[in-house]
Amino acid sequence: MNKKCDVLIIGAGGAGLTAALNAKESGADVIVLTKEYPTRSQTCMAQGGINAALGNAGEDSVEDHIANTLKSAHGEADPEAIRFMCESAPKAIEWLDSIGVCFSRTQDAKVAQRALGGASASRACYAQDYTGLKILHTIYDRCLEADIEIQNEKYLLEILKDENDGVCGAKVLDIRSGEVEIYEANAVVLASGGYSRIYDKNSTNSTASTGDGIATAARAGAELIDMEFVQFHPTGLKSCSILISESARGEGGYILNSKGERFTKELAPRDVLSRAIDAEIKKGEDVFLDIRHLGEKLIDEGLPQERKLAKLYENLDPVHELMPIKPVAHYTMGGVRVDNKSATSLKGLFACGECANHRVHGANRLGGNSLLEIVVFGKEAGVNAALYAKENGRTIPLNADITSVIDEIKTYENVLDFYAKREHIGDLFYKNVGIVRTKEELKVALQEVQDIKANISKLGVSDISKVYNTNLIEFLEFKNSLDVCEVVVKSALAREVSCGAHYIV
Ligand SMILES: Cc1cc2nc3c(=O)[nH]c(=O)nc-3n(C[C@H](O)[C@H](O)[C@H](O)COP(=O)(O)OP(=O)(O)OC[C@H]3O[C@@H](n4cnc5c(N)ncnc54)[C@H](O)[C@@H]3O)c2cc1C
Repeated sequence: MNKKCDVLIIGAGGAGLTAALNAKESGADVIVLTKEYPTRSQTCMAQGGINAALGNAGEDSVEDHIANTLKSAHGEADPEAIRFMCESAPKAIEWLDSIGVCFSRTQDAKVAQRALGGASASRACYAQDYTGLKILHTIYDRCLEADIEIQNEKYLLEILKDENDGVCGAKVLDIRSGEVEIYEANAVVLASGGYSRIYDKNSTNSTASTGDGIATAARAGAELIDMEFVQFHPTGLKSCSILISESARGEGGYILNSKGERFTKELAPRDVLSRAIDAEIKKGEDVFLDIRHLGEKLIDEGLPQERKLAKLYENLDPVHELMPIKPVAHYTMGGVRVDNKSATSLKGLFACGECANHRVHGANRLGGNSLLEIVVFGKEAGVNAALYAKENGRTIPLNADITSVIDEIKTYENVLDFYAKREHIGDLFYKNVGIVRTKEELKVALQEVQDIKANISKLGVSDISKVYNTNLIEFLEFKNSLDVCEVVVKSALAREVSCGAHYIV
C-alpha cells in the first residue's frame, strides 16, 4: 500500500532534518527518508564551524560577512540571497543554542568563534572540532521529540509527477526488504547532499555523496546550475583524503613545503590555497600542515578530532610531526536550481542543503557557510513546502507502478567490473576535471563518461538477491554519479573563462 504524507523529505542530514522540523512546526504531516542512518550523513563530519557575525572574538559585522561571502563567490552568487543568509545567521545560532547544541564557550560564556579562510573576522562558531556532529545529533533529537517519522535505508529511485506535471511523491527502494515502494506527498523536499564522490577516493566525503538526488531530480526535469563549481579542500591527508579541518589553520597552523618554507597565505580562500599547493606538488615538493607550534594543550582542547584523525589514518601525531597533505574534492557548489523560497523548477519540488543551489556560494564557498546554509535554507524549504502542501492538495490520485530501473539492471551482462570503472573515473576526474583544467583534458573525461554510459549494459551487478543488496545500491549510486559527471564536464566545457574553483588554462 502507498504511504502518504503532506511533505516528504529525501535526506536526513542537517538540511533535511531542519526542513522536517520546520515543516512539522508549520502543521504538515512529514516523513523523512534516508539511504543511511541520519547520524551518518556528511553533516556529522563537519568540523570547523558555522558562520555568524556575533563579534564574540573581536569586532565583526553582518555587512563584513556579506562582503566576504560575495568576494569569495566571484560574481556568481545572488547578493540578495547572501544578504538573507548572513542576516539570518545570528538568529540561526541562537536557535541552535536554544535547542541544545553544545557550542564551545569563551571565558565569559559566549559562543566561541574562530577564524576560517577568506573571513575578515573570527566568525565560525564551533563545538571543538565536532561542530556538525553536535548540530546534527541535536536536531535529530528534536525530530525524535517532535515525533517525526524518519525511515532509514530507503533509497530514492524516482521523483513522481502527476498528470498536471506536479511532483506528487517518490518511488523508493527499501534496502532491507528489497521491495520498491511508493510514497505520495503534496510536496517533496530534496535534501540529499552533494556529489564530491564522483572523485571517488580523492574526496573528503563519505561514499554516500554520489549526487543521487541531483541526478534523480534532473531525470524528472529539474534544472541544474553551476555544476562545474567543485571545491577542493587544501588540507586532505595525503594517503587517504581524510580532511584536516580549516580550524587547524584557523588556530594558527602553517602550510610548509619540503624545505620547511611557508609558501602561501594559510587563510586564503580555498580555491586560491588549493591551487598554490597543487602548483607546489607539481614542482615535485611534498606539502605539509604543521600545527606542532600550537602545543599539545591547545590541540587537545580545540582540535581533538584532527589529532585523532591524523593518528588513525596517517599514523602520526601532529603534536610532534608534520602532516603530509594534498587538496581533495570536498564540497559541490552546483546543484538543483531553487528560487528564494527553495522551490525548484518543478512544481511541488523543493530543495535545500548541498544538493540545492541557493546562489549563496557562487564559484567558491567560504568555510562555515555550508552549515549556515543548511540551517537557514533548511528552515525556508520546510516552511515553504508545508505551505505549498496545504494550498496544493493532490487532486489526481497517484497511480505509479513499482517497476523501476532495478528490473532493467538485473538484465545487464555484468562482464565489466563497475567498481574498477568507478575508481578509474574518480582518478580521471581528479586529474582532468580537478583544480586546474584544460579544454582538451575535459573533452577526454567527457568522452570516457559517455563511453561508459553507452555501454552500461556491459556492467551490472553480480548479486541479484533481493534483501540488503549493497552491490545493487552501489551500482545505482554509480549510475547516478555518471549522470552527474556528464553534467559537470559539459558545464566546465561551457564555462570558458576561469572563475573561482573552476580554473581553466
Ligand atoms: C569532512 C567535512 C567537513 C566539513 N566541515 C564543514 C564545516 O566546518 N563548516 C561548514 O559549514 N561545512 C562543512 N562541511 C560541509 C557540510 O558538512 C555539508 O555541506 C553539509 O553538512 C551538507 O548537508 P546536507 O544536509 O545537505 O547533506 P548531507 O549531510 O550529506 O545529508 C544527505 C542526506 O541525503 C541522504 N541521501 C542521499 N542520497 C539518497 C538517496 N538516493 N535516497 C535516500 N536518501 C539519500 C543521505 O543518506 C543523507 O541522509 C564539511 C564537509 C565534510 C565532508
